[in-house]
Amino acid sequence: MSIQTTNPATNKVLKSFDEMTDKQVDDAIAQSSNSFQDWKKTSYPERAAVLSKVASLMRENKAALSTLITLEMGKILSQAEGEVELSADILDYYAKNGEAFLADKKLEPEYGEAIIRSSPIGVLLGVQPWNFPFYQVARFVAPNIMVGNTILLKHASMVPQCAIAIEDLFKEAGAPIGLYTNLLISGKRASAIVSDKRIKGVSLTGSEAAGASLASEAGKNIKKSVLELGGNDALIVLADADIDKTVEWAVVGRMNNNGQSCIASKRIIAVEAIADEFIEKFTAKLAKLKVGDPMDPSTELGPLSSEEALLHLVDQVERSVAAGATVLLGGKRVDGPGAFMEPTILTDLNPEIPAYHEELFGPVSSFYRVKDEAAAIVLANDSDFGLGGSIFTKDIERGKQIADQIDSGMIFINHPTWTQADLPFGGTKGSGYGRELSEIGIHEFINKKLIRVS
Ligand code: NAP
Repeated sequence: MSIQTTNPATNKVLKSFDEMTDKQVDDAIAQSSNSFQDWKKTSYPERAAVLSKVASLMRENKAALSTLITLEMGKILSQAEGEVELSADILDYYAKNGEAFLADKKLEPEYGEAIIRSSPIGVLLGVQPWNFPFYQVARFVAPNIMVGNTILLKHASMVPQCAIAIEDLFKEAGAPIGLYTNLLISGKRASAIVSDKRIKGVSLTGSEAAGASLASEAGKNIKKSVLELGGNDALIVLADADIDKTVEWAVVGRMNNNGQSCIASKRIIAVEAIADEFIEKFTAKLAKLKVGDPMDPSTELGPLSSEEALLHLVDQVERSVAAGATVLLGGKRVDGPGAFMEPTILTDLNPEIPAYHEELFGPVSSFYRVKDEAAAIVLANDSDFGLGGSIFTKDIERGKQIADQIDSGMIFINHPTWTQADLPFGGTKGSGYGRELSEIGIHEFINKKLIRVS
């Protein structure tokens, strides 16, 4: 049974689900396609009303929904609550601003009239990961429902109850049948249905392998795709940074979501002048983190999402140590039940060591000391990924100049890379293409139709 809830804090299987049959998937695509014929004719206020209703239901049910998140993927409960609130904010943001974002754009051609009208394109397939099971769905679904597209949502196999809960919220909000449909299927089957002519676009948040598989199917079938993939973000600490504040933010940036965030500050790069002070304080903070039950309000670091994820991370650390990396802190799984990893810091890394290039998806920091700012920029850019990054300095203008030189989709100054409804989110290089959130995120799956009057 591949689709199941396993509590990673205990590794106990709690619930299993049958995958949908091919016939059920075909019916769901047909339903979504039929629904599009009506949904595309609805007004913006009608679409906004559904999103606002789902947002208020999310807030009303925050306790139950966040408990489900924690149970299925191990996020600490307070962060799960924050995720539910953020997801509701995203739905409200597009309900409030979508119509203005999609308004006709009047052009000024040499003669006559011309406008660009934003038209929906049809059924979209969204493939989402387990690490932010509500937020990832919200940022894909909200703008596209405002546009007038309909949604088939294939969620990660380890969060089926979150997936079903989101579909139920749409039902309870009175959404028409077929507007939002959950597909309980495996990843491979998601790629296989991309060729279906009724599906007009695909969006995936997840690993490079899954992204390449889905996007190659989309390419073969001449369909638009958006990919939000992995990251190996640098957090650069300059000599003039406020070290105590930087350490606080570095802990949050690396350990949020039990270290399993695409935009986590995975590589910390400190210039020589402050490297000793930084690493001493950073190590002391990580060593004190309370690791344990994610439902316990005093816990600061919960489990990884699964035993498999933990074994993969431990293997990455062990291969890196065998290749010459030094463990400054942790380095092992926590004894006892559940998929827990010690807060870990690796250093003495070079391009021959796996941890230099690979994304470490868990509470493992890579620490680098460099001669100066120029060396920090070269090292930050020596990655196949290009998602986010951050620079800590008191000199904001200098921070902006460095930001220009980092190859990534997002750079934050004096804060770890973060997300909110009105800021665009996305990467370059191996981190994918396209953007979600903000006004930019609503324009991905639209026919920008020219209407010309001569
Ligand atoms: P994953 O294995 O790629 O899973 C993500 C989704 O893709 C799941 O729904 C999965 O379904 C599906 N999938 C797997 N193989 C597929 C295939 N061949 N074709 C189509 N779909 C397929 O990713 P993960 O390891 O769970 O998630 C962590 C990764 O996501 C990390 O690399 C992280 O950095 C990245 N991420 C990126 C962002 C961003 O915004 N850039 C945000 C969050 C996470 P099953 O569960 O059924 O396999």
